[in-house]
Amino acid sequence: MPQTSQGRLMDGTAVARRIVEETARRAADLTARTGVTPCLATVLVGDDPASVTYVRMKQNRSRRAGIASRHVPLPAATTTDELVGVLRELSADPAVHGILLQHPVGEHVDERAAFEAIAPEKDVDGVTFASFATMSFGLPGFVSCTPGGILRLLDAYDVDPAGKRAVVVGRSAILGKPAGMLLLARDATVTYCHSRTRDLSAAVREADIVVAAVGRPRLIRGQDIKPGAVVLDAGYNEGNVGDVDFDTAVERASLITPVPGGGGPITIARLRGRAVTARPPARGV
Ligand code: NAP
Repeated sequence: MPQTSQGRLMDGTAVARRIVEETARRAADLTARTGVTPCLATVLVGDDPASVTYVRMKQNRSRRAGIASRHVPLPAATTTDELVGVLRELSADPAVHGILLQHPVGEHVDERAAFEAIAPEKDVDGVTFASFATMSFGLPGFVSCTPGGILRLLDAYDVDPAGKRAVVVGRSAILGKPAGMLLLARDATVTYCHSRTRDLSAAVREADIVVAAVGRPRLIRGQDIKPGAVVLDAGYNEGNVGDVDFDTAVERASLITPVPGGGGPITIARLRGRAVTARPPARGV
């Protein structure tokens, strides 16, 4: 593990590798026991180059983990009704165990309606209302993938959030909000910051754990990081830059994620793992 003068890097790629190995073992075990090969279906509307690359990456890595993938490419002009129809079909298909709708889906599509067409037991990305509800009640279910990955990274580096002050910058439904809820469930004292927060620096300075989930390059400066804090940067901005000013933050943090190589690889690895976890088909296991 690379050392810096202050902070140690949290190596998301290495943690992701362990998740993939674990997934491959579980997939092989499931197939040996039941004859079922877990299958992750990916649905992509349009041909946005970043989304195409992301989906291809997920498919290739799924194959390596012994998980079948089924890709459903749809034209950019696909309507909400058509997309809902495709997702319902996949939800009803016993050969499909996990469904991933690559988003954004295009402004003319009602994204929420599309997400809700995914059966909760196949919602490996944790995007449905049902998944959000089970997460907030602390019940078994699929938590949003990136926030879950953040917790996984903390666990991998033996950081126990209990009793710590966590500041989550960003409150989106897919990232900031669930990240804070998961930290709360692990007994951290959580503060959310957002675009209307009056003094972001003052809030960040209090944090033992900082989660950056904004999408603004280098918004969080090293001078605001409490010495010894753990810094998780989920932001991904143009030019491979995170939401944290890494060069200054690394001087004060005890542990810090690089961008890229922090949360991203874990998110993808966890999606595959979940295709194995997803409820097996009705023919029974
Ligand atoms: P989003 O929906 O645009 O939400 C951004 C959040 O940041 C909002 O809550 C917004 O506040 C807040 N914000 C904006 N400007 C701010 C400021 N100056 N100070 C404090 N808060 C501010 O974005 P998202 O989907 O959550 O994604 C956030 C970042 O994470 C992006 O860079 C994205 O690429 C990245 N991401 C990474 C992964 C991964 O796997 N690593 C996964 C998903 C997303 P308001 O609510 O007040 O508008």
